[in-house]
Amino acid sequence: MPHIPPRGAVIDITTVRSFRIARTRADLALAPGEVVIAGGTWLMSEPQPGVTGFVDMTGMGWPDLEVSPEGLRIAATCTIARLVAFSAEAPADWTAAAMIPDAANALLASFKIWNTATVGGNICRAFAAGAMVSLAVALDGVAEIWDGAVEREMPVAEFVTGNGTTALAAGEVLRGIRVPVHALRSRAALRKIALAEHGRSGAVVTGRVDPDGAHVFTVTAATWTPTVLRFAGAPDAAALAAAVREAPGYYTDPLGWADWRRGVSVVLAEQIRRELA
Ligand SMILES: Cc1cc2nc3c(=O)[nH]c(=O)nc-3n(C[C@H](O)[C@H](O)[C@H](O)COP(=O)(O)OP(=O)(O)OC[C@H]3O[C@@H](n4cnc5c(N)ncnc54)[C@H](O)[C@@H]3O)c2cc1C
Repeated sequence: MPHIPPRGAVIDITTVRSFRIARTRADLALAPGEVVIAGGTWLMSEPQPGVTGFVDMTGMGWPDLEVSPEGLRIAATCTIARLVAFSAEAPADWTAAAMIPDAANALLASFKIWNTATVGGNICRAFAAGAMVSLAVALDGVAEIWDGAVEREMPVAEFVTGNGTTALAAGEVLRGIRVPVHALRSRAALRKIALAEHGRSGAVVTGRVDPDGAHVFTVTAATWTPTVLRFAGAPDAAALAAAVREAPGYYTDPLGWADWRRGVSVVLAEQIRRELA
């Protein structure tokens, strides 16, 4: 169903003069001042100076979720709530689907925005604490990128280039995320920590063991860009701790010091290593 902007919120977005619904790929071509809107939960949450028009992506009619032998394709417009519901109906051997609710719960005030916020909107907003970034990176998600004619793809771990920045070029949109079946069949775990009980994540650490024994650990929210650490087999405690500690990009902001983020990431990774052992 097309997104209908909440009335009160629109009043606050004083620069916007146009709203149109994209139904074809050509409709996604943006005029100067236009931006795409998905759930609108972030776009409507603060002033958007310079934005004069919204182009609603939810009219594209993409299927939320496509299951195939290769894995799962998540439309950028799929809501977080729909993805959470899928975790209970996923194929039985997609054991890593159990991680989806944990990732969604890593969103601050998640219950208020799950039903509207989209997977693509969260990833394109690209906050370091982006919960769908954590999930996609944990499961080797691949970003499908569209412009008017060309398609390209890249790992979500590379799609997020900084706190709030992505690899999208002008005119490009995120079409969806493909999650490969080997990652969905892994045993996976996620841990989150925040300074306040319901605060924005200070660190999110994930780990998974693939059917071939490969181990993949990720750190998000604690580092400016996603950190992915791969091991051919199970790392020992010292090797994992060293890899997590030496990862680049731990940062300080009002939600935590860099040293604290580094330290808790080491602890959470070790908890996951033991759980998966
Ligand atoms: C109460 C509350 C709590 C929040 N907590 C968190 C949190 O803990 N962690 C966190 O990371 N974020 C948080 N956010 C911000 C959050 O990232 C977004 O609200 C939400 O995930 C964005 O999804 P959306 O579909 O509503 O995106 P929108 O608001 O519609 O769009 C977000 C941005 O992405 C762009 N965009 C959307 N879809 C696409 C696409 N397919 N291709 C290209 N560009 C696109 C838009 O142009 C816009 O710049 C919170 C927001 C609120 C209101």
